[in-house]
Amino acid sequence: MEKILENAATLLASSENNIRQNIDHPGSAFSFYSDSINKIGDSIVAMARDSKSRFLVVISSCDDETIVEFTGDRIGTDEIAAKICPLNAANAKALRKVFPWTAPISLRDRKTTVGCGDRLGCATVGHIAAAKEFQVTPVLAQQSIRELALTGRTYRDVVDDTCFMVFQAGYKDGYGADGDHLKTIDDIDVALAADMLMITLDLSDIMNAAAGDWPRSEIDAAFDKLPEGTKQHIIDTYADKTFTVKSSKVNIDAATAKRCAVMYLGALDYAATVHEHLAERRGNKFDLEVSIDETTSPTLPSHHLFIAKELLLRNVEFTSLAPRFIGEFQKGIDYIGDKAEFDRQFRVHADIAQANGDYKVSIHSGSDKFMVYPTIGEMTDMRLHLKTAGTSWLEAVRVIAQHDPVLYRSMHKCSLDNFAAMQELYHITADINKIADVDSLKDEELPALMEQLEARQLLHITYGPILNDKVIRPLFFAAMHKFEKEYHQGIYKHFYKHLNLLGVPKR
Ligand SMILES: [Zn+2]
Repeated sequence: MEKILENAATLLASSENNIRQNIDHPGSAFSFYSDSINKIGDSIVAMARDSKSRFLVVISSCDDETIVEFTGDRIGTDEIAAKICPLNAANAKALRKVFPWTAPISLRDRKTTVGCGDRLGCATVGHIAAAKEFQVTPVLAQQSIRELALTGRTYRDVVDDTCFMVFQAGYKDGYGADGDHLKTIDDIDVALAADMLMITLDLSDIMNAAAGDWPRSEIDAAFDKLPEGTKQHIIDTYADKTFTVKSSKVNIDAATAKRCAVMYLGALDYAATVHEHLAERRGNKFDLEVSIDETTSPTLPSHHLFIAKELLLRNVEFTSLAPRFIGEFQKGIDYIGDKAEFDRQFRVHADIAQANGDYKVSIHSGSDKFMVYPTIGEMTDMRLHLKTAGTSWLEAVRVIAQHDPVLYRSMHKCSLDNFAAMQELYHITADINKIADVDSLKDEELPALMEQLEARQLLHITYGPILNDKVIRPLFFAAMHKFEKEYHQGIYKHFYKHLNLLGVPKR
């Protein structure tokens, strides 16, 4: 650090490009991330790393207004000073103030968006590297309450980690932050307070999903209890009607109209309440996604159309909607199901979205669904939101399998120990007995496990227990720091494949 102070005056008088070339010193214990170097007023702000951690460095003359925003150890003289600033909440806040492009924004006007879901707080640079090559906006911060509980993070942590990595990558094109699968206004407020401007409202608990399987008589009885005006509206608007939505036709018979009313009206009123709350808090600077994907049966096109029309009738401005699609979208592996039937139904879902306010169709558990990506991209005309999450975690596991076989084996065994418990939370069908005993595999055979479906699913759903293991956790994060470049490269390759197969145009 002292070495940097020696020629700080020269650096401060140089252009950003010259600073990039001259700031690193051979023999110094730390190195700068070149893309993070920013000159503002009489200060240079940059990210750097040593063998243990990453941190911000601010170099400034005469304690100018930028350096006083950041907290950290200050060295130097009255004329030239530097601060080494830890990556904490106060410095993330300062970073967003000094460089507003490091804060999340609303993505209402962005056509194609992809949720990246970095559970570790160290994948984002890889996501950005891939996103930069395509006409797509990444939702870099994206986490559900379940993920927060399993990783021991808060929404504040998630957004702050993302801000630092956005700065590290020098990414100024704007990104989103998604409070994923939120069910209550209290949880939504926690996400909003952490600058998460995308709210995914999960209606699966509040809707009457069970009524999907009720017999006619039970539906009729429940429908009869609705207010007269509501019943009249439902019958007049939907019963025995055929709707032409772009190239598709959607029939709603009287029984389906009544069933939809019983299943969804309460939940849709709640969506309207949430929407009003968001508008009050954020004006029009938010993105509301309505999700009904965490239910047991697929969303029929007739139900999707009913939901969209009733949301619009309630003046709910929603950016995206996540139906549950036919077939299986299991974690970490490709689509399972009848691809031709998926194509047929997806066409109708995409037509409904385009004909009813042109919202984005949102695809959850979207990582690695390579088989259906071309359909999704083509039929939505790229007006879509794709959510991925666990796949970035699996790329981290791959790095460990490649570079630290001892650590990999202990992670793998931790997964096996916790698999049954985690199956309660995540629906997967992998037969883990097909996975070879890791002690019988040679070190160089371990990375191949990341190509095996059963091993992928095993490690996919057990991230919580692995990250909470007192012995594994520090070793894992130390390895992620050491192999940062390899990890970002792996994420880049994996995300490039996703965006490419979706058919997102290149920049
Ligand atoms: Zn979902």
